[in-house]
Amino acid sequence: MSKHYAADDDDFLITDPEKQPGVISEVPAGVKPLRLEPIGYRANIEVRCAFCRNRQRHIYGFFAVLPDGSLALCGNCCAVEISDKSTVAKIKQDVKRREITNQNMIVIRELTRGLPEVLKVLERDVLPIEAQVNSTAKELEWLFPSSRGTWKTSKKLGLARGGLVSVLKITGKLGERDVEGVLEKRQRIFTAIREGLQELEVAAKALRAEPVKHALRTLARRDGYEQVTMRGTEVVVGSWIPDPDDDEMEIFSERTVPLLTVEVPDARELLGLIE
Ligand SMILES: [Zn+2]
Repeated sequence: MSKHYAADDDDFLITDPEKQPGVISEVPAGVKPLRLEPIGYRANIEVRCAFCRNRQRHIYGFFAVLPDGSLALCGNCCAVEISDKSTVAKIKQDVKRREITNQNMIVIRELTRGLPEVLKVLERDVLPIEAQVNSTAKELEWLFPSSRGTWKTSKKLGLARGGLVSVLKITGKLGERDVEGVLEKRQRIFTAIREGLQELEVAAKALRAEPVKHALRTLARRDGYEQVTMRGTEVVVGSWIPDPDDDEMEIFSERTVPLLTVEVPDARELLGLIE
């Protein structure tokens, strides 16, 4: 069997039995089949039994093995005579299982269509910037504790990524409810991406040198820094602190946070993918 079909693929469904290698359409007179192949078929178009007089039309059928190794299509009634009821039932059950798996795979393919591409562009162009925005906001909070919660951050794109990964992992049998659930999830992910891109743009703009520079004087006062400047795109704050080596002296201690220098990526490609 395995030499004829992709039988090692447990979900493979044969839908064109007449076109399978070794299948002959006419069984020579007097030739008797030896047995049935363990894998049957579910034909896309009606096929006919090679054995009975009325050449029974059927969709679900069996391959009968002839003494020379060639195969002939066989309907249910003749199959029972070549083999036995329970073997025939088992083969048919296996075909039906493969059929369900196949239908599910088609549904899943449809539900996840285009999503790998969305994930790829999201991870390549956008998520690194979201991470950078959030870490810059965190560092500014660390530098200016009074500003906690006032920096805009971006979380939706990371969440959208998690959603995409989970949808792309779907396997197995999907009922109507599950399909609806996945479709809704797909929409939620796309909404999160659209909103997240706007959120990211706003957050990134607010963390660039100009707007931060504007707020520095107030922040420095609130958090008690004696000096606060910009050095290039870096925020530098400083205070005089006691010199650990000399009680009489103070040393100037500096802390810095680099601000965002990256451009917010052009989101058109990503938006085009989720239209
Ligand atoms: Zn027949």
